[in-house]
Amino acid sequence: MSFVWKAIACFAALAASSTLHAEEPVPTAKWSIAIHGGAGTLTRERMTPEKEAAYRAALQAALDAGSAVLKRGGSSADAVTAVITQLEDDPKFNAGRGAVFTWDGTNEMDASIMLGETRAAGAVAGVGTVRHPILLARAVMEHSPHVFLSGKGAEQFAAEQGLEIVGPEWFATEERKRQLEQMKAKNLSALDVEFKFGTVGAVALDQHGHLAAGTSTGGMTGKRWSRIGDSPVIGAGTWADDRACAVSGTGWGEYFIRVGVAHAICDRMLLAGEDAQTAADAVIGDVATMGGDGGVIVVSKDGDAVFSMNTPGMYRGRATSSGTNEVAIFADEDE
Ligand code: ASP
Repeated sequence: MSFVWKAIACFAALAASSTLHAEEPVPTAKWSIAIHGGAGTLTRERMTPEKEAAYRAALQAALDAGSAVLKRGGSSADAVTAVITQLEDDPKFNAGRGAVFTWDGTNEMDASIMLGETRAAGAVAGVGTVRHPILLARAVMEHSPHVFLSGKGAEQFAAEQGLEIVGPEWFATEERKRQLEQMKAKNLSALDVEFKFGTVGAVALDQHGHLAAGTSTGGMTGKRWSRIGDSPVIGAGTWADDRACAVSGTGWGEYFIRVGVAHAICDRMLLAGEDAQTAADAVIGDVATMGGDGGVIVVSKDGDAVFSMNTPGMYRGRATSSGTNEVAIFADEDE
């Protein structure tokens, strides 16, 4: 063998042995996640440094919980529920513990989840006894023949499924009580209250190429007559379709239902070939034209994680396998 051929053979053998080496980094498949903790009148003037730091830390912790699931090859549904259960237990957000009060002084929660692979979906509305409404929505999807349960029947199903049941004191916080009292004293409507939003949500693409979306909320302060917003309405507050995207919304629910926000965004991507940002901006623009406000988080089938809002801020975060890892509050932070 000539010197040249010996060198080539030697190089090839080295290359082959190095591909078998256990510590060699293997390229990981793509994953992506975006989360929100509600949109609304979130301006720098209204925020104290302590409050801002506490929200950023809570968002980062929830984002890390979801990213950890995706990094180790877990499903997008597990990532979404890991994020949302964490935010449901955090009284800073309007979901689970710390949910806003109804006019009658109770907490009535709504939640939904959807899988992009099968378009399986589960949703619950008006539940007051279940610690994690998102897990109840998931149980409806996985263990019932239905998509949407409400009120007492949903609570009964939760108990039968062995989900954690808690008393009303678990959800009630002084801060939310004060907001309800302030609203009543000033004779404001549910839509006037300064911090009217605060819903939580997550959307994710896992390493298997499957999307999932979930949303959980206490609704709007002072809501009456068993009012239900967009959050548990599949197609309005939550949507996932592996052919296009996963979306979770937060905002003025009545408008989000009338626009069919989450479905409309994925439809534009699927049928018109728009990218996630263009589709989300167009649909939020539509909400704004009608007089509504709020925001969305979107993850595309290709792993783009984007935000869109027409409010001064939205508690949010995103992380991807290509190294993005950030949380934000004010609208101008994305610019
Ligand atoms: N969209 C929710 C609702 O209308 C409120 C929110 O996003 O905070 O119930």
